[in-house]
Amino acid sequence: MAVNSLSLEQVKDLFVFISSHMIESKDMLTHADQAIGDGDHGIGMARGFEAVAEKLDSGDFSSVADIFRSVGFTLLASIGGASGAIFGSFFIGASNGLKDCSKLDSPAFARCLQAGLEMVKIRGKAKVGDKTMVDALEPAAQAAQANKEKSLDEITLLTSQAAESGKENTKNLIATTGKAKTLGERSLGHPDPGAISMSLILRFTHEHIQGLSNEM
Ligand code: ADP
Ligand code: MG
Repeated sequence: MAVNSLSLEQVKDLFVFISSHMIESKDMLTHADQAIGDGDHGIGMARGFEAVAEKLDSGDFSSVADIFRSVGFTLLASIGGASGAIFGSFFIGASNGLKDCSKLDSPAFARCLQAGLEMVKIRGKAKVGDKTMVDALEPAAQAAQANKEKSLDEITLLTSQAAESGKENTKNLIATTGKAKTLGERSLGHPDPGAISMSLILRFTHEHIQGLSNEM
């Protein structure tokens, strides 16, 4: 059966799922950053999501927005470097799309991605084509906007696919921001590590919600 919304408790479970899978992705993200960066992306993301898992375990949350904000500030404080600021800003921004929501439904999910994208752009000034996580996030936010009348399992599938193809396309781009900038054309052929992380977060979101849908 289709899943149309997640309660506060289910959003918490979603982040527990995302956290454990991001921690498991550590080596793959490390290899991706070794190819075009300094190799710390997997370590940073794993450390960040370990801190998120602890926070979820110990914290009491008053709203869905509160969970997103808390995830953002935890990533910001624990990752460090460019991606701490960027992924922290994404979730803090996303919480602005959820004001007063008692549950996460498809329109809220679309607002969340859009507000998160806006915060990332304010913070990092990168645009599509610069070979960053924005290349995965912006097409995902657009796909969500275009499909917000669909169920949560469908909208998360479509956003995950849009992010995945945006991430694949970063292989064809020369980095103009961040550490890969110094590589110039040598960054060609390699996907951007942050775009991989962004597309993984959206893939795990879909996998978790698909799992709930299969249980119903
Ligand atoms: P660092 O660059 O400090 O080593 P990480 O390796 O953890 O940090 O993360 C690098 C990723 O951060 C890049 O692959 C890119 O997706 C993302 N990133 C870096 N700068 C920006 C920016 N200005 N805007 C958006 N994303 C960025
Ligand atoms: Mg790095």
